[in-house]
Amino acid sequence: MKDSKIKSPYTSVIHAGQHPDPAFGSVSVPIYQTSTFAFENAEQGAARFSGEEKGYIYTRIGNPTIKALEDNIAFLENGYAGIATASGMAAITTVITALCDKKSHIISTASIYGATRVVIDSVFSKFGIETDYTDTSDIRNIERCIKQNTKLLFIETPANPTMALTDIEACAKVAKEKNIILVVDNTFASPIIQNPLNLGADIVLHSVTKFINGHSDVVGGIIVPESRDLFEQIQKVMTLIGGNMDPHQAWLVLRGVKTLALRAEKSQDNAMKLARFLENHPKVKWVIYPGLESHPQHALAKKQMNGFGAIMCFGLKGGFEAGHQMINSVKLCTLAVSLGGIESLIQHPASMTHAKVSKEDKEKAGITDDLIRLSVGCEGYEDLEEDLAQALDKV
Ligand SMILES: *Cc1c(COP(=O)(O)O)cnc(C)c1O
Repeated sequence: MKDSKIKSPYTSVIHAGQHPDPAFGSVSVPIYQTSTFAFENAEQGAARFSGEEKGYIYTRIGNPTIKALEDNIAFLENGYAGIATASGMAAITTVITALCDKKSHIISTASIYGATRVVIDSVFSKFGIETDYTDTSDIRNIERCIKQNTKLLFIETPANPTMALTDIEACAKVAKEKNIILVVDNTFASPIIQNPLNLGADIVLHSVTKFINGHSDVVGGIIVPESRDLFEQIQKVMTLIGGNMDPHQAWLVLRGVKTLALRAEKSQDNAMKLARFLENHPKVKWVIYPGLESHPQHALAKKQMNGFGAIMCFGLKGGFEAGHQMINSVKLCTLAVSLGGIESLIQHPASMTHAKVSKEDKEKAGITDDLIRLSVGCEGYEDLEEDLAQALDKV
C-alpha cells in the first residue's frame, strides 16, 4: 500500500516507510549492521559521492534500516524527511549547531527538559549563543523576548515536568512574522497525540527513547523538518558531527513504534482515570494533567492535541516529605526517570531530573519541591490505582 493512501495512525505506525526487503522479501526491515557499503566499481563510488547516483556510502551518512525509521516518523509528523540521531540530546544539539551562529539568540520554554537547558547554558553559551527562558505558555512573554538576532524559538509542550502548554499555532504566527525558526520538542506528546508541523512549526524533534520506542530499552532521537531546505542544512551537520543513530538502535525503535497508537490509547486512558483518582484523594493537594478541566489550558489541550497524553504531576498536602514517602512506597510503579514506556514510572524532578537547575530558575519554571511526576504506562488500571492508593496510605 502507498503511504499516501494511509488514513489511520494505527496503520501508519505499522506500515509507513516499511517495505518488504528487496533482497529476500524479509517482512521485518533487516538490520543492516554495516559501517560501509561496497561500490561495484570506481565510477559508481564517485557517482555516489557526487550525488549523481542514489545509494548508500557509509552508515554515518545513511543506512537502510535507519532510513526506514526516518521515513516512518517523517510520515507520522507530516514532515519533509527524518534525521535519526544517537539520542534526543543529539537531535537537540544538532539542530542548534546547524542553525545558530555566534551572534544568535534563542528563546526557550522556562521549564524545558533539564539537559537541554544545561547544554545551552554551559556549552552553546561558550560559542556566544544567548538564550532567554520564559514562560512560553503566555505568547506575550515570547514577544517581549524577541531581539533583532533571535534565530530560534525552541518550545516544549507539554513542558517537562510542569505540564504547562504552549500554543503552537500562536508561536508559529509570531515566528513567521519575525523570521524566526520554530522548533518544537514533541517528546511529551508523541506524534500520535500532537503534530506541530501541521500547526505551523518549522521543525519537530523527539527523544525516541520515550513514547516512540516505548519500551525503556533504547536511547535515541529524531529530527523532522518541514522543508527540504532545513532538512538539508541539519542533515549535513548531523553527518559531520556524527550524531547518527545506529542500525540496531533504529531496528529496535521500528519494532517499538508499531504499537505506538495502541500504547498511546491505553496509557492516556489510564492517565485520565488516575488523574481523577488523585484529584479526589484526601492526601493530594493538587494535580496537573491536561485532560482535567482544572488544567489552566485544558481548552488549548483540546484544540492542539489529539488526547491528553500519559504524563501528569501532582503534589501532596504533606509536601516534599510526604511525596518522598509516597514514591518510596510504590510497588508496581517504578521509581525511575524517563517516561513514555509501557511501564509506569514515578520520579521527583527537583532532586532528580532538574537537580542541576538553580533554585531560582526552578521556581520561575514552576518546579516546586513537592512536585511528583508520573508517567503512566499500559498496565491494567485497577492495579495502578491500587498501587497509588496503598502508597498514599503509607504517608
Ligand atoms: C528525554 C528527553 C530529552 C532527551 O532525550 P535523550 O534521548 O535522553 O537524549 C529531550 N527532551 C525531552 C522532552 C525529553 O523527555
